Amino acid sequence: MNSRRDFLKTASGVVLGMMAGACASGNERTAKVSKYFGLQIYGMGPELENDLPNGFRKVKEMGYSTLELAGYRDGKVGMFAEPVDIMEYRRMAEDAGLTISSSHVRPSLREYTADNQQQLMDFWKKTAEDHVKLGVKYLIQPALPQCRSLEETQYVAALFNEVGQLAKDAGIEWGLHNDQGFCYRVAPGGEQSMYLLAGRYPEGSRQIMDVLLEETDAEAVTFEYDCMAAVQGFNDPVEYLQRYPDRFHLLHVRDYAALGQSGMLNYPNIFRQFYANGYSDFYVEDENARSGNQTERLTESASYLLNADFVH
Ligand code: MG
Repeated sequence: MNSRRDFLKTASGVVLGMMAGACASGNERTAKVSKYFGLQIYGMGPELENDLPNGFRKVKEMGYSTLELAGYRDGKVGMFAEPVDIMEYRRMAEDAGLTISSSHVRPSLREYTADNQQQLMDFWKKTAEDHVKLGVKYLIQPALPQCRSLEETQYVAALFNEVGQLAKDAGIEWGLHNDQGFCYRVAPGGEQSMYLLAGRYPEGSRQIMDVLLEETDAEAVTFEYDCMAAVQGFNDPVEYLQRYPDRFHLLHVRDYAALGQSGMLNYPNIFRQFYANGYSDFYVEDENARSGNQTERLTESASYLLNADFVH
């Protein structure tokens, strides 16, 4: 008993709260537990953007502490309603007790070439400056431009290194979020990327994710690992987190419905490896933004995390 008390004394407030909740019996188990985790706001869809002050309050009440934005454009944020100036957006989020720690931004260019390289860099320079004002830690590109061949993917990776360095110089970590396109394969001299089921790959073809992991500089480019996209592409998230322990600084956690409901994602092992790698930032994502029951689903996902003993 003494050792347990000594341990509790040294634990942080958050852990102490969790321990107290876990050790309590009967109706004491309902004690409110708080943990630090984020929400990718796309999942709240119009329910958030049609009434930001109330939407933010709901998100906070569900148990989320921080936000990852989607829908930044030209100094404003908004996808489902009239975009709002970034500083006004930040003020409203902070009024509800939420921070903004990450943001998904995709340049409008769909093909990177020598001709539009300057345009790409100018876009990221302005975007990084705005995000410094928002106070984010991460600036994330959520999807790829054209990567039709191995060579084109290597060219894109070289530009990603430059963009990452630009953001780093501004004080922000820049990274890539793997959507399903990262599981496609590219071949030397190929004319298009291919999504193939396990087995018969063309000679010399490689998964885009693997090319990017190897061709980008760990000092300039991080990865926000979308665990479900990885599983959908027949990758094992735990294996990747083990193989590249310093590349995945944040996670996207989602499931086919609310978190933990499909049984297809081994979140206990994923979190264990992620923490073992020394990282702890993650965001809940729900792509069903127009379902009409976003609050319900995101509340269930938050409860899953709050009740999971493997989530710190
Ligand atoms: Mg995602």
